[in-house]
Amino acid sequence: LQSTGASERQFIGVDVGGTKIAACLVDAQGRILSSIRQLTDETNPEATLDSIANATQGLLKVSKLDAHSIKAIGFGIPGLVDAAQGIGIASVNLNWKNVAVRAGLEARLGVRCVIDNDVRTGALGEARFGAARGLKHLNYLNIGTGISVVILMDGKFFMGVNGLAGEIGHAILEPGGALCKCGGHGCFEAVASGPAIAARAIEKIKSGKASMLKAYSLDGSWRLTAENVFEAALSGDAVAKETLSEIGVLMARAIQTIALAYDPNVIVIGGGVVQGSKPLFMKIQEELQRLADESWVFRKVFTKDLVKLSALGTNAGVLGAAALAADAQ
Ligand SMILES: [Zn+2]
Repeated sequence: LQSTGASERQFIGVDVGGTKIAACLVDAQGRILSSIRQLTDETNPEATLDSIANATQGLLKVSKLDAHSIKAIGFGIPGLVDAAQGIGIASVNLNWKNVAVRAGLEARLGVRCVIDNDVRTGALGEARFGAARGLKHLNYLNIGTGISVVILMDGKFFMGVNGLAGEIGHAILEPGGALCKCGGHGCFEAVASGPAIAARAIEKIKSGKASMLKAYSLDGSWRLTAENVFEAALSGDAVAKETLSEIGVLMARAIQTIALAYDPNVIVIGGGVVQGSKPLFMKIQEELQRLADESWVFRKVFTKDLVKLSALGTNAGVLGAAALAADAQ
């Protein structure tokens, strides 16, 4: 095996998820030159760091690169991250608390490592290579299992006093609504995340409404996902359509609040849930238009291009991690 040095214009990004690790070699235009995917070992923090280092070394191998020729590698890590200190403060997915991620990876790889939260790297990916390319003021709204918004002002992250700016997943959308894991009731995350969409459809069926989604119930336990609801809506299922319509209205309200709070160039929706359903995205746009028709203040902020779906999809995080590496060089 002949090792060659990485070109000055090639960067490595690694996106660490609760189940999978994706590592990519990327050029300056954000094109993926080579990539690998491996399972995350979440047995304990040391095993997790081993599996992240292993995936990275696997990428170096398939890319025929020598670690010594790399100046820096960027990593997107789930949960609360102290990027400056290189610490993974807490992650439910990886089951870790106060892990010295950067030091652990640098010791294993012998290369300078840069880490940040994976939703922030997703925002960075969209800002550098995706739907917000060339725009200064971006809000990246991630709607998946969790919900948060990353605020980029003049190209810089706005973090707030506690590093919690953008934790809009715990703002109340439905007063007195479903119990959230944070302890609140009716939080955005508790009423409109992927699992919440499935839960809303189940409630409707339990109240006696007919639906093809009943097939996902077995012996009183449900195996229904948001994706199943999206599919059923496309087939014309009334419960699925009603669920998405209600969720779309709730999401539009949250998006209107974000737009009025930050007056950005663009709000990019990432994270899989809205990307998985065209009817849901259309309902959001329709409701935003209705709100703009109603209010002249919102009308000044809202345009047809204000809200866009992620252009990079599941690659946003890994491309943003590569951008972190590029910035560190
Ligand atoms: Zn909450």
